[in-house]
Amino acid sequence: MHLDQQTIAVVMMVFFCGTLIIAAGLVFALRASTAGRLWAFGHVLVSAAGLALAVSAASGTGQLGTLGAFAFVAGWLLIYRGVRVYYGVPAHPGALAGAGAIVLGLMAASSGLSEGPQLVLRIVYGVLALVSLATFATLARAGRGRRSIGAPLVLVASLVQLATQLAGFSHAMSLPPGGAAAAPLTLFFAGPAGSAWVLAPLIATLLGLFGFTVMAMEQIVAHNESGARIDALTGLLNRGALEMSALSLVARWQRDGQPLSCLVIDIDYFKQVNDSCGHHAGDAVLREVAQALDNSRRASDVAGRYGGEEFCVLCPHTDEQQASALANRVLRKVHAIALPAGRGHASVSIGVAQLRGGAGSREALWRTLFADADRALYHAKAHGRDRYVLASSMAEPAPSPAAVPLLEPEPDLAG
Ligand code: GH3
Ligand code: MG
Ligand code: MG
Repeated sequence: MHLDQQTIAVVMMVFFCGTLIIAAGLVFALRASTAGRLWAFGHVLVSAAGLALAVSAASGTGQLGTLGAFAFVAGWLLIYRGVRVYYGVPAHPGALAGAGAIVLGLMAASSGLSEGPQLVLRIVYGVLALVSLATFATLARAGRGRRSIGAPLVLVASLVQLATQLAGFSHAMSLPPGGAAAAPLTLFFAGPAGSAWVLAPLIATLLGLFGFTVMAMEQIVAHNESGARIDALTGLLNRGALEMSALSLVARWQRDGQPLSCLVIDIDYFKQVNDSCGHHAGDAVLREVAQALDNSRRASDVAGRYGGEEFCVLCPHTDEQQASALANRVLRKVHAIALPAGRGHASVSIGVAQLRGGAGSREALWRTLFADADRALYHAKAHGRDRYVLASSMAEPAPSPAAVPLLEPEPDLAG
């Protein structure tokens, strides 16, 4: 099927008008994602450039065509930068801007020459092919092993773009002098002007736009999901996420019978920190204690903020004695936290329990485990704080690992 120049111009105008409207909407819809913003802006530029090219071809204004060709390249460079930002690989914005400036300079220099249109075609096709190749390679390498619906669509779109740009490049190389000026719409179309191949890069652009949008939405959804699981102040799991993890660890305990232990940790005399140094200072101490917990636990342990100044660490494949080693580490690390206004150092009390018992729902078993650790914690508080107590040894005197009083005793106001 062969299309005349006028038909191609109309198809391009309708197509790029559509993608321009969609991309402009996406600038707002994807603003929560840095990569999404770059992709949306990139497609706005590509669509505006496509429109400029179509208008230029229909009206024969060469300047608009050169400007459009440059904006086209700049748009795809922006989209490529978005891919690098998305996967957290160095985006080299300076190098990409430099590449854009070089392309602009080359295009400006060659436009004055008699062979100008051919040279512009070769430069633009060559650079676009390189950008498509780089986009494809980054997606294939950085996206390997990640589950995504959008990324495979963009991979396919990049491959089609690459194929059409290579075909366009070889077509531009074979044009006779003056051939490019005679058929300006060959720009961005593989094969000779009028070929139905004109549709391939347009469909690939649409597929890519859809794929990029899905990728950005996937990122926004993943970010929101993790935000809903994380405690904003401490960065540990929040109570809801902690309890979800607890239930799945109890289920694993039911399956494999490996020991499961729990530490409930409460900061000592924390109210005094708030009262004497203010809530901001109290928040800072909370963050430092959370950090100490996070640094003390093993990778397989799950640490969360249970509420207020109370934390919980779940330790799969760990019995009570082994969990006491973690409790000791926590006590030591928390001792290293200096309290504001020269009020000494922080300390915590810890209750340690191991899941025992047999039948029962996961929820009931988790409640029992937590209640055992909580009882042990209150035992530790009652026996002087700054220590841990094992739930199994509550009848016996609590172990006292290097107990150090945290704060000066309150002045006896009555006396
Ligand atoms: P104990 O040694 O018996 O645990 O004494 P405590 O002072 O630590 O315990 P208490 O339950 O009396 O006080 C807990 C305090 O923790 C009271 C509350 O204002 C404070 N708190 C709870 N959540 C936050 C928070 O997010 N930020 C700050 N700054 N304080 C908090
Ligand atoms: Mg407390
Ligand atoms: Mg408390």
